[in-house]
Amino acid sequence: MSLLAVRGLRKAFGGVQAVDDVSFDLAAGEMLALIGPNGAGKSTCFNMVGGQLPPDAGSVRLEGREIAGLNPRAIAAHGIGRTFQITATFGSMTVRENVQMALIAHHGEVWRFWRPAAARFAAEADALLAQVGLAEQAERATGVLAYGDLKRLELAVALGNAPRLLLMDEPTAGMAPAERVALMQLTRRIATGRGVAVLFTEHDMDVVFDVSDRILVLNRGALMAAGDAAAIRADPAVREVYLGT
Ligand code: ADP
Ligand code: MG
Repeated sequence: MSLLAVRGLRKAFGGVQAVDDVSFDLAAGEMLALIGPNGAGKSTCFNMVGGQLPPDAGSVRLEGREIAGLNPRAIAAHGIGRTFQITATFGSMTVRENVQMALIAHHGEVWRFWRPAAARFAAEADALLAQVGLAEQAERATGVLAYGDLKRLELAVALGNAPRLLLMDEPTAGMAPAERVALMQLTRRIATGRGVAVLFTEHDMDVVFDVSDRILVLNRGALMAAGDAAAIRADPAVREVYLGT
């Protein structure tokens, strides 16, 4: 059985059919890219899988259990996490504290006992920080991190919720090309090691072809192709619509 089974997913905004009958499967541990031009419906798909938007129609099953229309908290509890931009709100917290906070939330600990709870998760937080290459930065205020380090922290925070599927909508936005490849290769290494599946969007095709097990191509809300890098590269319709060749 696939980890995630999406069937007949639909969402319209006014007269725009943003997502039009999308179906796909995602296997445990798989790294799946969802690509397509701006406005193709990628974020809308993510938001329906993550619970930020209720679908108009269709089904989203995680290990056979229907989760479509559940709220984001419930969906997170089922094992679907997503990376979120760490904003100024958490800028004065240290890097380690941001991860401790995620671990505390995941384990349902009580917030007013922050100090003992944070202490309990300090080692686990440091292990996650080491995995993303931020061990040296653990004591620094999050607000002073370089952009690329912040992106790695976002990954560590998301992993703190121990997801089985991680959703990453444009995780490398604003990064230099070399940094993009590095972040997604790191994500792939960690995800593979933990058996976490990843569904991500990415505009840089070099990154997509480099790290994906499989690629879905969305155009005007509908899936127009699915396959591995070689198949997608060779698909004439994809080349015409997306790659512009
Ligand atoms: P992508 O992430 O692939 O760029 P989106 O899923 O953000 O595409 O958008 C798909 C389509 O739905 C676009 O035409 C966009 O303008 C529209 N859309 C997305 N979100 C909303 C919204 N909240 N309200 C109205 N229209 C929206
Ligand atoms: Mg988007």
